Amino acid sequence: MLKENLQEVEARVADACARAGRDRDEVLLIAVSKTKPVEMIEEIYREGIRDFGENHPQEIRDKFPQLPQDVRWHMIGHLQTNKIKYIIERACMVHSVESVRLAEAISSAAVSHGLVMPVLVEVNMAKEESKYGIMPEDTERFIREIASLPGIHVRGLMTIAPYTDNAEENRVYFRDMKKLSVDIAGKNIDNVDMCELSMGMTGDYEVAIEEGATMVRVGTGIFGARDYSK
Ligand SMILES: *Cc1c(COP(=O)(O)O)cnc(C)c1O
Repeated sequence: MLKENLQEVEARVADACARAGRDRDEVLLIAVSKTKPVEMIEEIYREGIRDFGENHPQEIRDKFPQLPQDVRWHMIGHLQTNKIKYIIERACMVHSVESVRLAEAISSAAVSHGLVMPVLVEVNMAKEESKYGIMPEDTERFIREIASLPGIHVRGLMTIAPYTDNAEENRVYFRDMKKLSVDIAGKNIDNVDMCELSMGMTGDYEVAIEEGATMVRVGTGIFGARDYSK
């Protein structure tokens, strides 16, 4: 069953790339496995997926030793500074940097482990009260503030668009984020590469790809609905 879900998502990703005149390999599909057991992740791994997303640091810590070493774990959710220790040597990227304090804490953890952590800046494109993220108009200033920190490398932007039944409603946010990314790239800030745009989830990843996403984060579409009651 998971295999069919994945095939469906892969087909839709390929179609969206084709509509946008983009190569399929410009878009990384991240399977969001939060709350899902290792057995399900293994099933998707066997289909060739290597990139998995989690929003709780403890889940990365706990799942990491149970899966093959070539899995790339993406930290996509809100990260508290006291939990960085769980992901610093396990995550390949932190998508959710949204405060200077967090960037500084990741920086010092990375330096003490002798590594450089690729990070994305989370932008609250729709300015939703309930969401974390830097306001679009503050993003360049924020990036300038964190760019020179050792141990981190800013690689682009991430956004979580509003929940909606109509993906078209989110097109404007994806389009504006692409514009923001191009604007900031044009400033040539040292140690900053605006090459990644992490945007699009189960409800809207096709629209996000049409608007330039380089990473889509798909959970429900691959693993089915999540059960938070347990
Ligand atoms: C849960 C989650 C996703 C995946 O959501 P789906 O709607 O299940 O695809 C993507 N990004 C983030 C940050 C998430 O927390």
